[in-house]
Amino acid sequence: RDSCMSDSSDSVISSGSDSDGHIYKVVLLGEHGVGKSSLARIFGGVEDSHDSEETGNTYDRSIIVDEEEANLLLYDIWEQDNSQWLQDQCMRMGDAYIIVYSVTDKSSFEKASELRIQLRRARQSENIPIILVGNKTDLVRSREVSVDEGSACAVVFDCKFIETSASLHHNVRTLFEGIVRQIRLRRDSREE
Ligand code: GDP
Ligand code: MG
Repeated sequence: RDSCMSDSSDSVISSGSDSDGHIYKVVLLGEHGVGKSSLARIFGGVEDSHDSEETGNTYDRSIIVDEEEANLLLYDIWEQDNSQWLQDQCMRMGDAYIIVYSVTDKSSFEKASELRIQLRRARQSENIPIILVGNKTDLVRSREVSVDEGSACAVVFDCKFIETSASLHHNVRTLFEGIVRQIRLRRDSREE
């Protein structure tokens, strides 16, 4: 499944209407520097030749997952002006969350746990899809968080887990497919 990103351009198409007419809001959370904006730019199909330090971007794309189109609105706004108000908004607005840490930075992993707890507190009764993402797997020699630690944490926090490398585009498409599948699982269980 490692070749999944190479086909991103033909299966990620410009936004259109979802089969169920919904646009799902997906919010990126995580400490500064873990790779949120890099992952978002790949999703958005933006060339990342320049390492821009912009914050506050939103990407609107449709992707085909399991032969069904899904409309996602990806918010990379967590660090925008670092206001408490905005961060509270982030915790409330998402239909799904991607919590990112860097496998080369233990403190970002600990921060990810804090964010998961904050999210649980903000959305107590809701069963929101969350994927915990360990990014920067290409930096093998500076790894501080093992795959086992990451997946164990996801088990404790009752969320999905994936490791990615934004630099190598590894597993990035699988991540966004995963979030769509999680959203659909919950949507379908609500319909029954
Ligand atoms: P953000 O602060 O969470 O939005 O993180 P950025 O996307 O701005 O990334 C921070 C830095 O880490 C930038 O210099 C990126 O080029 C770099 N970076 C992001 N993802 C990866 C990755 O998977 N591997 C490596 N080696 N560097 C990465
Ligand atoms: Mg950023």
